[in-house]
Amino acid sequence: MKIARFEYQGAIALGLVDVGSGTLGVIEAASGSGDPMIAVIERHLAGQVPRLTERRVSLAAVTLLAPITRPSKNVLCIGKNYAAHAAEFTQSGYDSSAKNATDVIPDAPIVFTKAPGSLTGARAPVQVPWEITQQLDYEAELGVIIGRPGRGIARADALQHVWAYTCINDVTARDLQAKHKQWLLGKSIDTFCPIGPWLVTADELDPKNLELKCWVNGELRQHANTRDLIFDIPTIIATISASMRLEAGDIIATGTPAGVGIGFKPPKFLKSGDTVRVAIAGIGELENQMV
Ligand code: MG
Repeated sequence: MKIARFEYQGAIALGLVDVGSGTLGVIEAASGSGDPMIAVIERHLAGQVPRLTERRVSLAAVTLLAPITRPSKNVLCIGKNYAAHAAEFTQSGYDSSAKNATDVIPDAPIVFTKAPGSLTGARAPVQVPWEITQQLDYEAELGVIIGRPGRGIARADALQHVWAYTCINDVTARDLQAKHKQWLLGKSIDTFCPIGPWLVTADELDPKNLELKCWVNGELRQHANTRDLIFDIPTIIATISASMRLEAGDIIATGTPAGVGIGFKPPKFLKSGDTVRVAIAGIGELENQMV
């Protein structure tokens, strides 16, 4: 299943996406005040598939929204998780986690977070506070959506806790990331986490072999495959869940490959008006303008 959250004619709903026909079947709204996508996940784990209304709308007519807006915790992110990106980041001088320029491959996953207010839709503008950042960068990433909750999840069981996958752009203010040492502020600016265009349930994809691409204004900057992750998804889930219980709807950004702006000499930072497109085969695309 591909499930989107969208706005159409002033109302917000979830829809089952049919990419072939370019339409959405509108899902019956759940009662309750929680995050509606998390309610769908929880019902699905209990054996109920989403129930459709009679309404169908054209994908082209809707505004896609972040599929989940209220995860139980911040978006969990992995830093330096592709070897070539780890090298470019460490050598850029922006990496406050590295001891020196040869300290490239982490011994254990580097885990940081983005505040949920950073989540935004697949075509939404990224609203950049240019007065506090002049070093804006992009990071195309595979996103993992947790289904079955758990604490202390074993590597061997980890993929059974994944409900879906999605695309993420881990937009980053490099100057804030370096200045504050902790990456939280430079990563958490409101709208700095485009996600979507929808969630694709885990049964439809092989997360160990997904082609990922990123373009800036049509120029290909990143092109990689998730088979090259340093720490794979089971290792990431085992590591995080050793510390904290993962809940349905929690979001993990698995790390970005080489080709980010600071990987170039001189760096290629984003400017107002630039458009970043992120595509993952079998999932879909994000396309967000920096404003
Ligand atoms: Mg990242």
